[in-house]
Amino acid sequence: MGFTVALHTGKGMSTDSDPLACDMWRQGWFSLAHACPSPNFGPRPPKACIDLIVVHSISLPPGSYGGSNVQALFTNQLDWDAHPYFQSIRGIEVSAHFFITRKGVLWQFVNCDDRAWHAGVSTYRGRDNCNDDSIGIELEGLEGDTYEAAQYLALADLASHIGRRYPIAYIAGHEHVAAGRKIDPGPGFDWGTLRGALNHPLKNYLPSQEK
Ligand SMILES: [Zn+2]
Repeated sequence: MGFTVALHTGKGMSTDSDPLACDMWRQGWFSLAHACPSPNFGPRPPKACIDLIVVHSISLPPGSYGGSNVQALFTNQLDWDAHPYFQSIRGIEVSAHFFITRKGVLWQFVNCDDRAWHAGVSTYRGRDNCNDDSIGIELEGLEGDTYEAAQYLALADLASHIGRRYPIAYIAGHEHVAAGRKIDPGPGFDWGTLRGALNHPLKNYLPSQEK
């Protein structure tokens, strides 16, 4: 259990006698993610059934990897004048629950019990407004570019932990929940690779067109 050390150094940890000390979660915050709280969130609707994981891609500026611009964007601290591309998104307030870097490093911005602002106008499994009842995971990447093995592994591991805390029954891309409007994570994302990394039953929850 290599996780034990991380758990017992977590903020707000209880003593070893606390049964919750074995939990990987702290009220919607995942213990193994770097916490970087975003102000861009709100409450979920009462009785929301959080059964969907939405996979995205992002890089700022697009195609530029590394650095901390994504973290800055999600915390409303991006310097809009630092790059010409940023003018096109100046002032937007967005967030995702998680961000996975090219090296597979995991960041968390919003408590999964809360509603992050990642999907926008969307519909999936017969329900609109996917932000209400989904968990958004951004991969550092670009539509059309490929993704790193470390990212598939980190995504699959994260999904398995999410699946133990929330009743996940669907995993889809932004391109599936906002078809015709969004194209991420894009054709470079290999759903078969993700399926191979996922545990049962999550591997059965991918979009039908990706099976
Ligand atoms: Zn997206």
